Amino acid sequence: MKPLPKECNILEIEMKWQKRWEEMGIYQFDWNDAERPVFSIDTPPPYPSGDFHMGNALNHTYFDILARYKRMRGYNVLFPQGFDCHGLPTEVETEEHYNIRKTDVPPDEFVKLCNTLVDKYIDIMRRAIKRLGCSIDWTTEYQTRDPDYWRKTQLSFILLYKKGYIYQGTHPINWCPRCETAIADAEVEHQSKSGILHTVQFPTEDSTHISIATTRPELFSSCVAVAVHSEDDRYRQLVGKTARVPTTNRQVKIITDELVDPKFGTGIVMICTYGDKADVKAVKSRRLPVIMSIDEKGKMTQKAGKYAGMPVEEARKAVVADLEQQNLLEKTETLQQEVGTCWRCHTPIEILETKQWFMKTLQLTPKVEKTADEIRWYPDYMRARLVDWARSLDWDWVISRQRVFATPIPIWYCEECDEVILAEEDWTPIDPRIEAPRMDKCPKCGHGKFAPETDVLDTWFDSSITCAVHAGWPEREDWKHRFPADVHPSGTDIIRTWAYYLMVRHLALFEQTPYKSCLINGMVLGNDGRMMHKSLGNYVATPDVFNKYGADASRQWAAAGGTTGSDIPFRWPDVEYSWRFLIKLWNAARFASHHLRDYSPQEGVPKLELLDRWLLSNLERVTVNVTAALDSCQFNTAVEEVRNFTWHQLCDQYIEAIKHRLYTADKYGDARKKAAQHTLYTAIYRVLQLLAPVAPHLTEEIYQHLYAGDMQPKSIHTSRWPVPDVEKIDEEAEKYGALITAFIKEVRRDKSERRIPLNKPITKLTVYAGSKKSEHILNQALEDITGTCKTERMQILPEKGEGRRVEEYPNVQFKAEY
Ligand SMILES: [Zn+2]
Ligand SMILES: [Zn+2]
Repeated sequence: MKPLPKECNILEIEMKWQKRWEEMGIYQFDWNDAERPVFSIDTPPPYPSGDFHMGNALNHTYFDILARYKRMRGYNVLFPQGFDCHGLPTEVETEEHYNIRKTDVPPDEFVKLCNTLVDKYIDIMRRAIKRLGCSIDWTTEYQTRDPDYWRKTQLSFILLYKKGYIYQGTHPINWCPRCETAIADAEVEHQSKSGILHTVQFPTEDSTHISIATTRPELFSSCVAVAVHSEDDRYRQLVGKTARVPTTNRQVKIITDELVDPKFGTGIVMICTYGDKADVKAVKSRRLPVIMSIDEKGKMTQKAGKYAGMPVEEARKAVVADLEQQNLLEKTETLQQEVGTCWRCHTPIEILETKQWFMKTLQLTPKVEKTADEIRWYPDYMRARLVDWARSLDWDWVISRQRVFATPIPIWYCEECDEVILAEEDWTPIDPRIEAPRMDKCPKCGHGKFAPETDVLDTWFDSSITCAVHAGWPEREDWKHRFPADVHPSGTDIIRTWAYYLMVRHLALFEQTPYKSCLINGMVLGNDGRMMHKSLGNYVATPDVFNKYGADASRQWAAAGGTTGSDIPFRWPDVEYSWRFLIKLWNAARFASHHLRDYSPQEGVPKLELLDRWLLSNLERVTVNVTAALDSCQFNTAVEEVRNFTWHQLCDQYIEAIKHRLYTADKYGDARKKAAQHTLYTAIYRVLQLLAPVAPHLTEEIYQHLYAGDMQPKSIHTSRWPVPDVEKIDEEAEKYGALITAFIKEVRRDKSERRIPLNKPITKLTVYAGSKKSEHILNQALEDITGTCKTERMQILPEKGEGRRVEEYPNVQFKAEY
């Protein structure tokens, strides 16, 4: 037992333990342990953005509470950490930072520039994760840009290719003209933008005209039909006739389409390749021609005639000017419309038809639904998000990207016969852009010249195999012992990407769910109630919070901020409250450390007083509740339970009520002192344990001072979680204790309201218990009441009487005389 110092320097304590824990190696997963059950966490490798924001602090707190809890429950916890390095954001930032485009420098030089940025950002994020006190096993760290990880990503591609899940095809895909790459549905954001609706006349064959409303007149060169709803009586006679598309000489058919909304514009719309997904459906179902008049850079193609070479916006203006000149523009009006934009650069996307690589994901939807149903979700209602997303998809997953900083697709083409050459599994990692296939001649035609696939893989293709990779796939033969992951933690914003892609990839590769449960965190809101974001001015940087109140207080804010899965606001007062709680705990432990110096746990359990039994029973109840809450990932409930018990029952009530026993053993007897010491020793240790997953640093510091000398575990975090025991709950003691503590609290409140010092004796305290029962209860704790209230004479009467009422027990009243 080492007394705690008066000053609690939380920041210093946190840094010290972060360093020591790593030296002690207590978070290392034991790959050879055959005894303990494994608990594996599929830590999502964060994207190295260089910014570890409060949202990261929230989700990392969730994972870490779970990791620490399960470790104390006796599991061999696999808590890995990777970084998902590739991708568009880094490329875009590199382009901006160096003021270049990806094509301005050779690809390897561009990758080098990207890597420099990623190095810097990973370093920032790694430090922030450590600063939050995460119990990561850093020996597992991986980066998806490493050749070793490339090998895994490419191997998974090869395996899926062989299983028939990968195909190359010319299909409509979402395209960002600024980033010049295909993007998946999950990467398209929908923004409300104001646009202009043009009502334009299309001359018809009977020398009249029809009027069509469109926001995109520049797509006239791609118009392949005009459509009306089949039940729209206004236009019934037109169906089957033709109309001429303005600014072109093309005649197109007037057809019916059930997707046309008769109330939108004039009720007649044009179908072009492609204005939106409805166009894609119409073109496909009616086998209409495809005329691409926008290219990959967002400029008009030769198909656009005189507008060729113009950027889309410019072409739109030019077409409108021509329509006006030809008297074909009837009217214009502004309207709010939903526009699909690139998730990275917010440029409006185009739907282009290009040759891309796809993974057959649509056919997996029934399996995704079934699996989502079988796994456990925290909270349960999040299951629907995954299922709804899978059902909403119209297209297979486009996995090729026309970018540079990514895992290469392990494919070549025979220059003679176009045969696709797939890399052998043992060629990986390989970069076809640099290396030729390891064969002399084309297996089909015998020629020996090959062209590389220059497209690269979507970053999600890297990060969607982590459940298998964390388990040790493919190099550890026993990887299935750690697969599926016990939990995949995810944010509400990435269910449609992370949770979904993991699911389809592992189902396709291994015919198994990747994770047994999914733990969802909400988003962090700023003080204005909106999502916290740098651009909104409601942003709080993580270091500001860590440096002011420390990691343990920040973690408490995250855990206690709301129910699991809900969005939680960031509020400074919540963090400050958490910090004050830690100081309260410190002071209680410090008090104990002084009064337990002559106590030894070897002495066994002494005879306990009523208030001791009251506290220990409540402690057991809290243990049961906290354990149940952590088992079901209700972190806020767990924190509230421990905090309420510690702050109110332990500190405000119990410690105050035993001071006389500890200070004046000569008056109240050594047995009562021992009983108080035993209870205090037991309760503080238990509180430290229950709180250790949430506030790992301070609980460790107190443990080391008060308990490490008596106990085996070298750290609170390797101590065994207390087994909750309902048998130990003593309802009578709880009920009696509640009355006694309420009574003491009221007497003390009376003193302070009358401005009488708490230590000033009451010469006579007359208690009207209001019933025989209450009289009996109060008599059970006579010494603790007189000792705590400092009464010289006390009389407890069973009858009702006049006096100050005890708040929660209005029948109990008292009169204090000084
Ligand atoms: Zn973009
Ligand atoms: Zn060939």
